[in-house]
Amino acid sequence: MTVFVLGSINLDAVARVDDLPRPGETVAGLSLELFLGGKGANQAVAAARMGVATRLMGAVGGDDSGAGLKAKLAGYGVQVGDVVELPGVPTGQAHVWVANSAENMIVVTAGANAMVTPQQVAATTIEGQRVLLCQLETPATAIETLFRAGSAKGALRILNAAPALPQGAALFPLTDILIVNQTELATYAKLDREPVKLEEVSVAARKLMSRPDQTIIVTLGAAGAAVVRRDEAFLVEGKKVKAVDTVGAGDCFCGALAATLAAGMDLAEAVETANAAAALSVQKAGAAPSMPNRREVEAFLE
Ligand code: ATP
Repeated sequence: MTVFVLGSINLDAVARVDDLPRPGETVAGLSLELFLGGKGANQAVAAARMGVATRLMGAVGGDDSGAGLKAKLAGYGVQVGDVVELPGVPTGQAHVWVANSAENMIVVTAGANAMVTPQQVAATTIEGQRVLLCQLETPATAIETLFRAGSAKGALRILNAAPALPQGAALFPLTDILIVNQTELATYAKLDREPVKLEEVSVAARKLMSRPDQTIIVTLGAAGAAVVRRDEAFLVEGKKVKAVDTVGAGDCFCGALAATLAAGMDLAEAVETANAAAALSVQKAGAAPSMPNRREVEAFLE
């Protein structure tokens, strides 16, 4: 029962400001916090916290922040032997400014994340990996190589097609379970507004299906998640909680789903558990620090 994540690792620098600066303006920051981030890292932490052996493949720069992020990941129980440190390349960073009004501006520089290559993937062994989990913050060519190898080995291939990118759609045929939120679904299905009701969600999701045996999961925020297959579509209701910070909710959902499927749970139960894990995560600040462990999720579900 193992999860293999291929994905991004970022240093998130979050500065609070009274008001966002206008072009050319300098404003004083009220505070600065540095976090482990990146969808790959967050999802790997969420999976590992569920008690399932989790490997992360990716790249950081040969700088202090790269080594620090690897150590942090290892502290969460993620196996980082497949994370390369690339000299002369910066670690990926997200610069986030949050105003008092809660409006924000974010700049993400991919740095080393953009340098993950098909060769790096081909050089590792994925023998015995039950679930492969990717997002779109690392190059699609590397994901394609991993999914093709996974198909030959009978692994379950899960793609969280976020952020929505045109090159993402080319990976859908290689995917067994595709996970998108409502905004991403609207983008990929070329809709002018986000689908809300289960009926609209399932019609839109089926537009993304390229094989009859695929499953599409659409996360619906507090409402939970819709599971759409060729012949059925059902809603797994979200858990009612008081949300404090929804950053990383989607990542928590994906990581927890991968872990529970790797542990042999059936899909409906796994989605129920992923909803519970994500609902717990929105009650705490931050992404990685808010991911619950298996005991917390089990206690919440009792
Ligand atoms: P984010 O970008 O904030 O990480 P997302 O847009 O990728 O999230 P969402 O659909 O908003 O994804 O949320 C993912 C999952 O998190 C949902 O399917 C649900 O299980 C859980 N969730 C999100 N918001 C809430 C909430 N307010 N209350 C309970 N559960 C929530």
